[in-house]
Amino acid sequence: MVRTERTVVDAAAVSAMQAGLRGELIGAGDASYEERRAVWNGSIDRYPALIARCAGVADVIAAVKFARREGLRVAVRSGGHSFPGLSVCDDGLVIDLSLMKGIRVDPHARTARAQAGVLLGELDRETQEFGLAVPAGIVTHTGLAGLTLGGGIGWLMRKFGLTIDQLVSVDMVTAEGEFVKASEKENADLFWGVRGAGANFGIVTEFEFRLNPVGPIVFAGPIFWPMQDSPDVLRFYRDWIQDVPDELTTIVVHRMVPPLPAIPQELHGKPVVVVACCYAGPLEDAERVVRPMKGFGSPLLDLCAPKPFVALQSMFDPSFPQGWWYYFKSCDVAELSDAVIDIVADNAMRMSSPLTAFPIFQLGGVISRVGEDETAFNGRNAGHTININATTATGEGFDLEREWSRNFWSALEPYHTSVYVNFLMDEGEDRIRQAYGAGKYERLKALKRKYDPGNFFRMNQNISPE
Ligand SMILES: Cc1cc2nc3c(=O)[nH]c(=O)nc-3n(C[C@H](O)[C@H](O)[C@H](O)COP(=O)(O)OP(=O)(O)OC[C@H]3O[C@@H](n4cnc5c(N)ncnc54)[C@H](O)[C@@H]3O)c2cc1C
Repeated sequence: MVRTERTVVDAAAVSAMQAGLRGELIGAGDASYEERRAVWNGSIDRYPALIARCAGVADVIAAVKFARREGLRVAVRSGGHSFPGLSVCDDGLVIDLSLMKGIRVDPHARTARAQAGVLLGELDRETQEFGLAVPAGIVTHTGLAGLTLGGGIGWLMRKFGLTIDQLVSVDMVTAEGEFVKASEKENADLFWGVRGAGANFGIVTEFEFRLNPVGPIVFAGPIFWPMQDSPDVLRFYRDWIQDVPDELTTIVVHRMVPPLPAIPQELHGKPVVVVACCYAGPLEDAERVVRPMKGFGSPLLDLCAPKPFVALQSMFDPSFPQGWWYYFKSCDVAELSDAVIDIVADNAMRMSSPLTAFPIFQLGGVISRVGEDETAFNGRNAGHTININATTATGEGFDLEREWSRNFWSALEPYHTSVYVNFLMDEGEDRIRQAYGAGKYERLKALKRKYDPGNFFRMNQNISPE
């Protein structure tokens, strides 16, 4: 027997597993263990017994069967960006897909196949070569797999829909270690569930997406005003977005200005409200559409201009590095009513960490034109997703900033409509039910009973089969 830090696994079984893998099996004694158990959110500190770094589907099947035989709890990791750290467990086995980086773009058919370990920036690198893109998230080091399985919101969503709205098919390994495919034509019930509640039913090893023409140059970037102007900026913004075309997606951010080279030094550290834009259409139309917002009041800085789509995609990367401490409370609201705006503006002024930056995503457009029951994703008719992100570099000051996030979220409670499952922390069953929606939750439970009755995959926003 081998005694690892927290659990006991049969040594002969470990050796056999090790010998059979094309990837690698890492235990607590290995040099890379510390690096491999770390996840994006530095406030998560867990010690798995073993980490199976899978090189392909055969390794994933072997890892699932090994965990079953040994009775090990399993966490599945692709990009490791789960806010509550659901891709690492104490004890048990982490099935790590980060080595699975294959991407194949077919520019003629306008489709792409991407393996589960791909990060958003890696997919953009391949698709943008052909002026194509999968609408996904706003930070390039986020994992494609976890983001897609929860829905996927980002700069292109109002024009083309959520990331799941581009899905053609997935390859999966089930809780029994069986390989299955899911699409509209094959295992259609599973394909429905994968698009919004995907982490519950198996391990997706590969995605097939439809691609959309984007850029490579888009009219995009942030416009800054002093944070104390937030009530007026938000009121003007709210009225302006009533009539903007689907090509435009905007995100409002309240924060202290980060010390980045693109920003004049005298602004660094100043509290600001930012309207960031991405126009996924002709540049000459974009300038006209964005002009009213650019002209409002006296912006401190305007960086909204033509730029490569991939430059926009990496704009927020330095604001969300791996290892800082993060806490989130999120909700959707129907609209930016005067009451919501006043709560947002008031609470923004109370943040104390210079690293906190909370986004308000503008939804609508194509997202809301896909039927609410067509996929497991819930909240297609929401107006905005507010993600109250409290951030500190270490544990110092974290409790205070987390309290700020919770109080802010509570003040918005009368206006909550839904919540995006990928923006949940570990918040209990009621919130999970809210994320999937009461009606869909029952349908998802039935699906869970069919594909994972033993709840083998439970390190996720879990749908209990019972
Ligand atoms: C900096 C940052 C920016 C973000 N920006 C956005 C954004 O713009 N838009 C957006 O929609 N979301 C965004 N998110 C949220 C993001 O969608 C989730 O954190 C998502 O879970 C990340 O996916 P991952 O593969 O990195 O996660 P992981 O931590 O690896 O996994 C997350 C969950 O999915 C499960 N899982 C992972 N891979 C698989 C797989 N292959 N098969 C089955 N289950 C799997 C895990 O078990 C876990 O439960 C952001 C997150 C971060 C940290």
